[in-house]
Formats: sequence, C-alpha cells, structure tokens
Amino acid sequence: MSIAQNLLQIKAALPDEVTLVAVSKTKPIADLKQAYDAGQRVFGENKIQEMSEKWEQLPKDISWHMIGHVQSNKVKFMAPYVSLIHGVDRLSLLDEINKQAAKNNRIIDCLLQVHIAQEETKFGFDEQELKAAFDADAFAPYTNIKISGLMGMASFTSDINQIKAEFTQLKSLFDSMKNKPTAQVNLHILSMGMSGDYELAIACGSTMVRIGSSIFGSR
Ligand SMILES: *Cc1c(COP(=O)(O)O)cnc(C)c1O
Repeated sequence: MSIAQNLLQIKAALPDEVTLVAVSKTKPIADLKQAYDAGQRVFGENKIQEMSEKWEQLPKDISWHMIGHVQSNKVKFMAPYVSLIHGVDRLSLLDEINKQAAKNNRIIDCLLQVHIAQEETKFGFDEQELKAAFDADAFAPYTNIKISGLMGMASFTSDINQIKAEFTQLKSLFDSMKNKPTAQVNLHILSMGMSGDYELAIACGSTMVRIGSSIFGSR
C-alpha cells in the first residue's frame, strides 16, 4: 500500500479525540510530501537538525513535534518553529527551552517524558520525581513554557500484559495530576502508542499516537 493509503486507513480507525503524529524520521522529503498531500499536518522527528531541514523545505502549515531525546545545545535550532516537544526528560532542559522560547517571543508546549518501561535505556522522569516536581511547583519559573501533558514509551516486548500495565500506570499518573492546573501546567495530552502498540495505548487512554513504520514503511 502507498503512504497515503496507509495514512488514511490508520486515521479512519482512530477515535476523533486522538491526534496522529506521523513519525517521519529518516524518511525523505518526498515521503513526507505524500503524507502531506493526503492531509497529514502533524509530523514527528527525533533529530533536531533533520527536522529543521524538513521544516525549511516543506509547507509552513505543518506542526513539527520533537519526539526524541533533546540535547540542550540544539534547542535553539528548533525554538523558532517547533510546536510540541515530547521528550522533556529532565528539569535542566526546561531552562534552555524557556530561554530559547523567550528569545523567539514564543510559548513552547512541552510534554514530560515518564519512564514507564522496564528497560534501563529509556529516558524520562520516574513517578516520584515527577510528583515531587509538581508538588514543589517546579515549573512556575518557566513563563515561556506550557507543560501540556505526559509522554511515555512502553517496554520493547511481545508481552501484551506488561505493555498494558505500563500504559495504565502512565494513564493513572496523568489522571492524578491533570486536575491541578497552574499558570505553566495544564495536562491535557497523553502521548503514548507507536506502530506496534497504539491500539492498546488508545484503549488505555492515549490522546496522541506517534506512528512511523505503519505509515512510511520500515526504517
Ligand atoms: C521512532 C519513534 C516512534 C515511531 O515508531 P514506529 O514503531 O515506527 O511507529 C514513536 N515514538 C518515538 C519516541 C520514536 O522514536
């Protein structure tokens, strides 16, 4: 099937309240253009330089989401245009995002990445750390940032029950914190689910899925 067909088929099956981020990392501009022409306007990339090159070449009504691990010294390259940063995995990164957002006269939406997988390698806050940050209102100084939700990646495993338990854990953390908005925090986005597990993620309460290979083919 073509990229457009894959995209439309996935979209048709998503509930209205779930946003589809088309993960186009490593894929050429021509592939993104096919998805764009089929109506897709939200794209996810995991490298700032690659995303910036694509942003420069493609129509300006695209929303660009940074879904990968972010190095502080590269934030400045995406600050003028990025619409959502999914992978905020440490408080110190917010210093730099806030600084660069202010320079660009913008308020940048961010998701806090929560470590839900069993693997050691995945980035993110653990639950205790996150709760402590919320309790201490650690986000208050970042007046050019909006904390709009949480993001998580399940373990890379074929054990459905484990994946389900991890998504459920993130959903309950999200629910326990979403009703306490502050000036800088308003949790309404729960980003979880990729090609292999997005249906399960949606059943567990995801509002945003990040799908790459099921749209663009394997990388
Ligand atoms: C690559 C990537 C995805 C998409 O993965 P697929 O399995 O190709 O759908 C989603 N989220 C993150 C954080 C990624 O790095």
